[in-house]
Amino acid sequence: MKVLLGGKRVKIVIITHENPDGDAIGSSLGLAGVLGNFGHDVNVVVPNVYPDFLKWFSSVVRVYVYGSEKKEAKRIINLAEVLICLDFNDPVRAGKIKKQIMQFGGIKIMIDHHPYPEQFCDYMISETEYSSTAELVYRLVKETGFKDFMDHASAEALFTGIMTDTGSFSHNISRPGPFLAAAELMSWGIDTERIQSNVYHNFSADRMKLLGYCLNHKMEVFPEFRTAVIHISHDELLKYNFQPGDTEGFVNYPLSINNIIFSALFIEKRDVIKISFRSKGSFPVNHFSQKHFGGGGHLNAAGGESNLTLTETVDRFRQLLSEYKHQLSEVK
Ligand code: 5GP
Ligand code: MN
Repeated sequence: MKVLLGGKRVKIVIITHENPDGDAIGSSLGLAGVLGNFGHDVNVVVPNVYPDFLKWFSSVVRVYVYGSEKKEAKRIINLAEVLICLDFNDPVRAGKIKKQIMQFGGIKIMIDHHPYPEQFCDYMISETEYSSTAELVYRLVKETGFKDFMDHASAEALFTGIMTDTGSFSHNISRPGPFLAAAELMSWGIDTERIQSNVYHNFSADRMKLLGYCLNHKMEVFPEFRTAVIHISHDELLKYNFQPGDTEGFVNYPLSINNIIFSALFIEKRDVIKISFRSKGSFPVNHFSQKHFGGGGHLNAAGGESNLTLTETVDRFRQLLSEYKHQLSEVK
């Protein structure tokens, strides 16, 4: 890692996962800010568009969207000497950028907190206990003596990553780490109430109506399996003027029902069904998703996909539940 810590100015590109979330964008902008302040030339490239509720940061780091700015994004990647993969540990998760990552000729570094990392980087910092990649980045910044290069914008971005990946400090918080990091980040004068408000109180009226519709008409509860699902068709999304990020967080709502410990959200995209899974306690949704829906993620938060129709996918899921009845009933 001498290349980052030495005095030489290096061209760095930070890449994060498809459908970037708060941790993906927050950790990328935070690390980019610190490395930029140190003197490196840093850009961020994301595979596809990210939601408006992640577009308020004070960071001046340029984020290239590969899907819509392919030429510039490719040029940035080709010019870079170091590529840092943040918040993912399998090149497949980088969607359309996968090929560029695999062909990259410079040094590749992974910094991530998901289990079961793939070996595709020269250096791997893979720490699954961390609440978020942002918390891990902050720790690395501290331990490598880069703290002097933190600034307000980087602290704000890293705080956002920790806040969103822990659902505002409600899960992934069995260690003091996320609280300590958040508290220390406040010393750069960030306005945590404004950050909360920018992320969580920034929805369109259409999004709120879509949520109401989903909870009222599209949620099915299976108390015998301690499970609830929500499924939404493409036409329904269009009816509510769907914008990227609008369904973010929907999968968490069923978990607030008494005795429900497994929740699944099925969304019909143009060519695939995107699935989100969440659980409470010991039920491993990453294993479930990997086994049945080609996905993965964390113990309590995972995603996957299905190439069946929406109805077929939900039917398949219902059938699977009986196989897991015993395991689901045992969760404390
Ligand atoms: P979400 O449901 O918010 O899209 O994703 C939850 C978690 O699962 C995140 O940690 C994300 O990185 C992971 N994840 C989401 N979709 C996939 C997928 O298709 N494959 C894998 N391996 N992980 C996913
Ligand atoms: Mn993350």
